[in-house]
Amino acid sequence: MSDQTITAKALGLVPALPAYFKTYRLLRKSQWWSSRQLEEYQVRRLGKLLDHAYRNVPYYRRVFDERGLKPTDIQNLSDLRKLPFLTKEMIRDNLKDLVARNYPQGKLEYVTTGGTSGVPLGFYYEKAVSRATEWAFIKTLWERVGYRFKDKCILLKGNVVANTDRGKFWETTFFGRWLILSSYHMTESNLPEYIKKIREFRPKFIQAFPSAITILAKFMEKNSVAPFLSIKAILCGSENMYPGQRELIEGILHCPVYTWYGHAERVVLAGECNQRTGYHIFPEYGITELVRDDGTPVAGENETGTIVGTGLTNYALPLIRYKTDDQAAWASGDCSCGRKYPRLKTVKGRWLQEFIITGNNRPISITAINMHSDVFDNVAQFQFYQDRKEEVIFNVVKKPGYTDRDTEYIKKELARKLGGDIDLVIRFVDNIPRTERGKYRFLIQKLPLGMGEENSGQ
Ligand SMILES: [Zn+2]
Repeated sequence: MSDQTITAKALGLVPALPAYFKTYRLLRKSQWWSSRQLEEYQVRRLGKLLDHAYRNVPYYRRVFDERGLKPTDIQNLSDLRKLPFLTKEMIRDNLKDLVARNYPQGKLEYVTTGGTSGVPLGFYYEKAVSRATEWAFIKTLWERVGYRFKDKCILLKGNVVANTDRGKFWETTFFGRWLILSSYHMTESNLPEYIKKIREFRPKFIQAFPSAITILAKFMEKNSVAPFLSIKAILCGSENMYPGQRELIEGILHCPVYTWYGHAERVVLAGECNQRTGYHIFPEYGITELVRDDGTPVAGENETGTIVGTGLTNYALPLIRYKTDDQAAWASGDCSCGRKYPRLKTVKGRWLQEFIITGNNRPISITAINMHSDVFDNVAQFQFYQDRKEEVIFNVVKKPGYTDRDTEYIKKELARKLGGDIDLVIRFVDNIPRTERGKYRFLIQKLPLGMGEENSGQ
């Protein structure tokens, strides 16, 4: 059995092996194509997708008909703007009509993702095929920084591990090559066991949520734990990387951190190469736009816009001009790795929830509050919580050395960043719960969506 067959078996993707190989072979070649070749590929794939959507997806048939358009009216990437955006709410309201009629129920896999308002959004992948295709992209992305199939990996990214009640916080998967560590039990008393287990396992890579690997790194720093010599790189995704966080992790674990961006809707997938010049977008995966609140494209590299994506791989439920909750800016110039992929300079995920809104409706980015600061030296974890514009609650999990002086220091420093039109309330808690998907949030924003409407562009 070949290495790749073993992997496909482990992932339960045997029926979709041809889809995996087709995509993987394409990406091996296309990553070195010229910008023109990439665009020609996208236009070709877009034409095919629109033709399919028009013929088989009632929702899009209606969208075209209402505008007097035919798929042939879209001849290039800018023509795509003739079609309207698709929002989460529209998917929720039109789910049945968004499923392609030539995909019977048996070929669909139902998936959910977090909605902006907290209500999960459900939609469909093509069973097995979507996951196989995704793996081809992810593998290609990680190969850029040295990952190979046989490499051992640690997973520290919100997976659920069985038997934790018996003091076992890990389990292996992928024929013993991947060791999943629970992100829910990383307490001061358990972490020495985690570290021992990692050393024994001798992984080459760690796949992690930034927040989870930060907990490990901080513990290692505090207790002067030596870095793991076997680790070549840390692959971080699914959460925003905060200022100072990468430096902290790299400084303590003595290896580079690479970040990537993507989500369950699978319209955009982008990641760093070994040059770390921004997130290289896979043009083979989807067409990415950055748009202003009025829907027009952003200009230049200094303007941030909402990420809008058209997925080129999911024909079971095509997402055309899907408006994500995320914000980004373009990176300029070419990367020295030689790939001509467009790049994103910065990405702010689920951005509306990453802002504190003051009494005067002023949004304050959570990323502006530097994580790597001595203000939080005696704080184990923290989380902002807001449900009133006039007030933000700062929940703190204390470290043993925490005193009233820390409270005063935090109050003073945060007040400088928050300004005068919002009250800061500090509360002490025993732990900070993760979201049901195992993610850690620096801010729980409970203000109704309309509160930040002028910023959301919805
Ligand atoms: Zn590059």
